[in-house]
Amino acid sequence: MPFLRARFLGQRLAQPAKRWNSTATAGLKADLLRVTKTENPKALVANKDLIFGRTFSDHMITAEWAENKGWDAPEVRPYDKICLDPSAVVFHYASECFEGMKAYKDKQGKIRLFRPDMNMARMNRSTARIALPQFDGDELLKVIGEYLKIDKRWIPEGRGYSLYLRPTMIGTQESLGVAASNRAMLFVIGSPVGPYYPTGFSAVSLKATNEYVRAWPRGTGDSKIGGNYAPGLLPQLLASKQGYQQNLWLFGENDQLTEVGAMNLFVLWKNEQGETELATPPLDGSILPGVTRDSILSLARSWGEFKVTERYMNMPQLRDAVREKRVLEVFGAGTACIVTPVKTIEYNGEDLHIPLDPSDPTAQAGPITKRVNDTMMDIQYGEIEHPWSVVVN
Ligand SMILES: *Cc1c(COP(=O)(O)O)cnc(C)c1O
Repeated sequence: MPFLRARFLGQRLAQPAKRWNSTATAGLKADLLRVTKTENPKALVANKDLIFGRTFSDHMITAEWAENKGWDAPEVRPYDKICLDPSAVVFHYASECFEGMKAYKDKQGKIRLFRPDMNMARMNRSTARIALPQFDGDELLKVIGEYLKIDKRWIPEGRGYSLYLRPTMIGTQESLGVAASNRAMLFVIGSPVGPYYPTGFSAVSLKATNEYVRAWPRGTGDSKIGGNYAPGLLPQLLASKQGYQQNLWLFGENDQLTEVGAMNLFVLWKNEQGETELATPPLDGSILPGVTRDSILSLARSWGEFKVTERYMNMPQLRDAVREKRVLEVFGAGTACIVTPVKTIEYNGEDLHIPLDPSDPTAQAGPITKRVNDTMMDIQYGEIEHPWSVVVN
């Protein structure tokens, strides 16, 4: 099976990879960067007034690609509308992929990124999957570094605050033909954001969803492509009408656990063998390979205090474990929030109650959930020196 999977992926990626390796066309080059600064800098928004993804900084990055020429010079220019023909493929066939990452300001005022190479690598896997062009991730990171220096005042200060970066690529060929786009645009916008939980954690209730499916093996669930998200909006709306903030996406006949909303899922429990185990579903093609997920696995393994596994779990197993009081903590994980504690899961009409902190009835997150969150923040804000935190020079 692993061999088949690898071969299958290899075949799918072969064609777009060739596009990039072609020596006839230009790669993305940071030293060609053109900078145009805004003449109308906007007023900053106070930290307390920031709403996730609503405010944007003064500038944006853009770069254009054409199949016969390759990448044009990247630009940092004033944040503005983009003008596209209504026939551009992105509007019809969801020729779009994106990333989510953050720039942090540490106590010395230095700008830091968290494992940005992982976002670049993942974006290239996403673009390959939808037949958009590859680019040199190190070069885009250099451009992002220049952009961050120009928009430095937009990186809010304080633990929990950051400039959320949204690298995006779209197919821009003007054609209704269903075919790989021969033109593309890469852009990056920045949005100052505050802590996901400004007044401390607030645990969420989930609706275990099996009437809709987010992703499936050999589908595109492991790619951060726009086409994966619109179909999740209706189930999310239906769940919220019933009082559940997110969907717990299930898959298959035995209701396998996959992801929570747009986050990876972690379960801390006493497993069937009675071992304390932190478990998350394996990267089988239907799970988005989160940077936060990977970081949590690696931190928890370094602690060496409990078993850490990537394994399948299903809803009946989780329900039994809840009934037998073997579940310790459940949380979602992703860049926007780091962790989101889960307090309830509705499954086939039954509300399963997940413990938060047994030692503190008012707590909104369990001790391991909190520790993961605090350790990640210490690294992101440079309070612990760690190779994952990269200073922008
Ligand atoms: C972005 C995303 C995640 C989290 O990935 P991070 O790299 O940790 O931010 C998880 N699941 C889905 C579906 C996502 O889109």
